[in-house]
Amino acid sequence: MIELNNLSVVFGEVDNRVLAVDQVSLHVEAGESFGLVGESGSGKSTILRAVAGLVNSAGGTISIEGKPLGQQRDKSFYAKVQMVFQDPFGSLHPKHTIDRILTEPLVVHGIEDREAKVRAVLEQVQLGPSFRFRYPHQLSGGQRQRIAIARALILRPRIILLDEPTSALDVSIQAEILNLLDDIRTEMGVTYLLVSHDLGVVAHMCNRFAVMRQGKLVEVAESANLGTGALAHPYSRQLLLASKGYDRAVIDTFADL
Ligand code: ADP
Ligand code: MG
Repeated sequence: MIELNNLSVVFGEVDNRVLAVDQVSLHVEAGESFGLVGESGSGKSTILRAVAGLVNSAGGTISIEGKPLGQQRDKSFYAKVQMVFQDPFGSLHPKHTIDRILTEPLVVHGIEDREAKVRAVLEQVQLGPSFRFRYPHQLSGGQRQRIAIARALILRPRIILLDEPTSALDVSIQAEILNLLDDIRTEMGVTYLLVSHDLGVVAHMCNRFAVMRQGKLVEVAESANLGTGALAHPYSRQLLLASKGYDRAVIDTFADL
């Protein structure tokens, strides 16, 4: 469903050049949930943004359903591929009602029967029809993220790119949203490419995952291996250790690996 072949993304000019993504290759099967883990700044979000066409690639190819994409994305791409961001506060227009936020993609794509579709998608994210007439600031963080998910779902995409979809939420709400995303994938057979710095989230949500470090893909592993700690690369093992309750200072001591 998704294939990256030696994808590279560069930011900045000569002096402050950052190789954010360095020749990453991976593939995601149809209906699979694939995770990207790694510490902050390792290039996870940039990979999603490159797939979504929000940043240009400097090299390599991105293919969806076997077709390589150019730098530009057309309307039909966004009917197939949608993205959910970490921050449900920033990603929803503050002056638009939920109804308008959810109707807009339908208008852009010339889809009729909008009210019924908005009601159905609200039900899918377990919010009642009364939410249509609220504004984002009248919602809790978890409810806002449900709206962001509903907006991604309303065009019935085949792929959803999820960038830390629960990191901005209270711990008690995180599990609810992750379970919702899991149910949606089962119901719709949609493919996920999910970024998280939390291996626990990836273990719960993903079939396989890639470990990223400084723009490079370190290894791809099955989530089933997380329980036994059977990861090939020492860096991945230490990331696993660190996620089991050690703090950031511990990761910093692994710098020379
Ligand atoms: P992650 O999501 O894993 O935390 P990012 O993909 O956001 O990491 O960032 C990877 C690297 O690219 C970091 O060094 C970051 O500072 C840099 N970077 C990301 N976006 C930009 C940008 N728009 N301009 C310049 N540098 C950027
Ligand atoms: Mg990020």
